[in-house]
Amino acid sequence: MDYLPVFLQLRAARAVIVGGGRVAARKADLLLRAGARVIVVAPRLHEDLDSAVASGELTHLAESFAPAHLQGAALCIAATDREEVNIAVSEAARAQGVPINVVDDASLSTFIFPAIIDRSPVVIAVGSAGQAPVLARWVRERIESVLPARLGALARFMGERRGSVGRALGAAARRGFWERIVRGRAGARVLAGDEPAAERAFQAELLTSQLTTCAATGASALGEVYLIGAGPGDPDLLTLRALQLLQQADVVLYDRLVPAAVLDRARREARRIFVGKAHGAAGEHTPQEQIHALMIRLARQGLKVARLKGGDPFIFGRGGEEIEELARHGIPHLVVPGITAALGAAASAGIPLTLRALSQSVTFVTAHAAQDDSLDWRSLARAGQTVVFYMGVGRLESITRRLCAAGADDNLPAALIERATLPGQRVLRGTLADIAMRGGQAGISSPALLIVGEVAAIAAAGDAAVATARAALETAADLNQPI
Ligand code: SAH
Repeated sequence: MDYLPVFLQLRAARAVIVGGGRVAARKADLLLRAGARVIVVAPRLHEDLDSAVASGELTHLAESFAPAHLQGAALCIAATDREEVNIAVSEAARAQGVPINVVDDASLSTFIFPAIIDRSPVVIAVGSAGQAPVLARWVRERIESVLPARLGALARFMGERRGSVGRALGAAARRGFWERIVRGRAGARVLAGDEPAAERAFQAELLTSQLTTCAATGASALGEVYLIGAGPGDPDLLTLRALQLLQQADVVLYDRLVPAAVLDRARREARRIFVGKAHGAAGEHTPQEQIHALMIRLARQGLKVARLKGGDPFIFGRGGEEIEELARHGIPHLVVPGITAALGAAASAGIPLTLRALSQSVTFVTAHAAQDDSLDWRSLARAGQTVVFYMGVGRLESITRRLCAAGADDNLPAALIERATLPGQRVLRGTLADIAMRGGQAGISSPALLIVGEVAAIAAAGDAAVATARAALETAADLNQPI
């Protein structure tokens, strides 16, 4: 380790910045956020610093640097573009024992700034000993992307309750208790922005812990269910919250539409249970009531159950029935939205679902109901809109026929998207008159969506790019050249 990472308490401490340019302004901002009393020594100031000086947050000394400026300083930053000044500041600081950072010059510095993730009061610092600042920033971005946005709120929530927990629980019970808060319902509620629910969950957990102090190191007695939308299939389309909860779950109940690549994102030790409804496939059909019973039983065992569903749980996903059942049995639950298949398919096929002048609304329809008369075909057939049919692969013929009978134009564009966002995705384009036939000829099978409307004719930029790349490959092959 070339440097020791520490967190400096700078509240009201004197911090001197030599230089008044844009870099100095950035450093001043950082020091002010840490509560320092910032003094900027520079003949002239960059405009970014004007407002801080005007509001009195920061003191400006319009002078050239002199060693006396460092008296009583907790730290010093040299951010001038003149090397001789930076050297003089570095020497003076070292002589007076003041920690010094010369921007972009580790050899003149006694400390360096890390890349920072600020979810105050949680702060994460990443350094590369000055060897690869761009890499450190990349690491920061990676960490940033997996941390919940409200991490700071959770830290404050816990901080505010430390005293009362200290009085309510013995030392041996506290650690397990706080772990259950972080990993359990209360933590999940704070991260979801629902502090009243978090407070209720916190009080319930505290009560349980008080009543079961002898078993305080065991799992929480209160299990819960997370209804998680897994998106259309590509694991990169999971939400950050879905990932976080998948990492906490003890058990994952997953549907047929959830691919292995998504399931792989769950905690390694989590039990995985298939509860798919594979129409026609013998032995794989799990009745909905059985799923309800399983969720309730597992949650009552104190487990955190991730109910992972393709797309979004509330779009043709029976999520509504499941939360109703959970609520009826008093099982705590949380719903995490997912990218529904229509949105995933539209994005990857390059079809905008609404478009000024072409389509002013979009409707998601289940083709399940296509056979009976519960759908309002006349309104689905109206111009100026987009209609997306889910679960319609076996009913393409009847859907297109009914739309035309209800007044839709034979030439209205339509697109079929099979396995959207998954490896092997296929996009077929046509019109109401021929899309069913094209789908049949191509052997399109579930999962697939039918998009009907003028927008369905829009060719994806991606398609064009693939066509160009393919043409380039073919040309290269013709010429027998490596690409
Ligand atoms: N809750 C899911 C929908 C479940 S209904 C969601 O929000 O997406 C199942 C239907 O969704 C399938 O029959 C198919 O029409 C559609 N579907 C799901 N995943 C798909 C995918 N990757 N590509 C195309 N259609 C998909």
